[in-house]
Amino acid sequence: MKILADVMEQVIKRNPNETEFHQAVSEVLESLEPVAEKHPEWVKAGIFSRIVEPERQVVFRVTWVDDNGNVQVNRGFRVQFNSAIGPYKGGLRLHPSVNIGIIKFLGFEQILKNSLTGLPIGGGKGGSDFDPKGKSDGEIMRFCQNFMFELSRHIGENTDVPAGDIGVGGREIGYLFGMYKKIRNEFTGVLTGKGLDWGGSLARTEATGYGLCYFMEEALNAKGKSFKGATVSVSGSGNVAIYATQKVHQLGGKVVAMSDSNGYIYDPEGIKLDTIQRLKEIERQRISKYVDFHPNATYTEGCSNIWNVKCDIALPSATQNELDGEAAKTLIANGCYAVGEGANMPSTPEAVELFIENKVVFGPAKAANAGGVATSALEMSQNSMRYSWSFEEVDAKLKNIMANIYKNASEAAKEYGQEDNLVAGANIAGFLKVASAMYSQGIL
Ligand code: NDP
Repeated sequence: MKILADVMEQVIKRNPNETEFHQAVSEVLESLEPVAEKHPEWVKAGIFSRIVEPERQVVFRVTWVDDNGNVQVNRGFRVQFNSAIGPYKGGLRLHPSVNIGIIKFLGFEQILKNSLTGLPIGGGKGGSDFDPKGKSDGEIMRFCQNFMFELSRHIGENTDVPAGDIGVGGREIGYLFGMYKKIRNEFTGVLTGKGLDWGGSLARTEATGYGLCYFMEEALNAKGKSFKGATVSVSGSGNVAIYATQKVHQLGGKVVAMSDSNGYIYDPEGIKLDTIQRLKEIERQRISKYVDFHPNATYTEGCSNIWNVKCDIALPSATQNELDGEAAKTLIANGCYAVGEGANMPSTPEAVELFIENKVVFGPAKAANAGGVATSALEMSQNSMRYSWSFEEVDAKLKNIMANIYKNASEAAKEYGQEDNLVAGANIAGFLKVASAMYSQGIL
């Protein structure tokens, strides 16, 4: 009988129908069995049962008026999951698929990810089922202002510091920050991902994608491989995907495929990132438009088909469960030797198992995409100091953080008898620090 089976049973009972949350917790508890065996005092102190229960969950109504004068109602969420090692920290997601289970899976993962960065940040996540697609700037602004009207009661620079995620970029952070400042009458680093003129950190925009490549380069080097000369597929074409692609090109690899939620493009000569940036960051267009400018490229309807493209390295950077067992089999059959998760939990449990079984170099999200939140924590430091570092300084710190995450995850995997399994290594290394802090702080 597994020591942590009761904990999982309780999670399922207490959080019915929250499948993504169950999936995230189940993977972590599986990895933590050897830790539970080694630390009976943590089992006795209820650390495992406590870490899966958020410290606080706020669910609220967001009411706003659309351009036609109609009243719209959305649901807002903020889950403050764990503050053992620092203020709650994690992004806000605006997407119609958002529900409490998705926010809880993301918040739970965030605890361990933030711990892995080595920086003093706890775990949280939030968002809304608001769909930003097709909305005017005015509608986005009114939504963000009303969302912040409630959220402002629960956050603060030393309490909870939200950031961007799917559907929340620089524009939305601006509207959210403006409203917070107006309500509180204070200029503090309460959000990260801010504009460079008003407290943002250089290299934050690039950080998740760059960090993903720095992490994967470490993992690849350990196996005598690298991005240099490799053919790469990157799913998504948002913040993470764009800057991962930029860094792959800088490291000498070639990205040949990218996607959005409608379909994917394949450009055998290598994706021209300036076209993608114009279409996605400025014009907010669909990726299918790419082929109008590059006739040698092709567009295929259906985003999950991107994994049929032959590649050496795959960087899933769109959303959860976008890469299933079938896709994993196809990638492996086509000779793919490394997968780095830019998105949160993009691979299904079946896909992860196949990658590990087949000795694919696999960088799990909570380690591989931690560069974004790490740089957000660097933004918090700069805000507290009322000072800013150069792009090169932040980038160097990011690179160092990602190398340390790789080192800690691979050493933890080895120490607990699972050499090369970075899923187990990241879960264990992230957990040890949080568990030790929770234990020291008493039964709360
Ligand atoms: P963006 O909103 O900038 O981009 C998201 C991309 O993924 C878009 O191309 C979008 O396509 C696609 N996408 C979104 N939902 C789906 C879906 N259901 N099916 C298929 N494609 C989809 O988000 P980010 O780049 O910021 O985030 C991407 C992933 O990375 C998320 O999992 C996020 O949690 C994770 N992440 C982000 C960090 C950050 O710093 N931004 C940090 C760590 C993790 P479309 O435009 O058609 O919707």
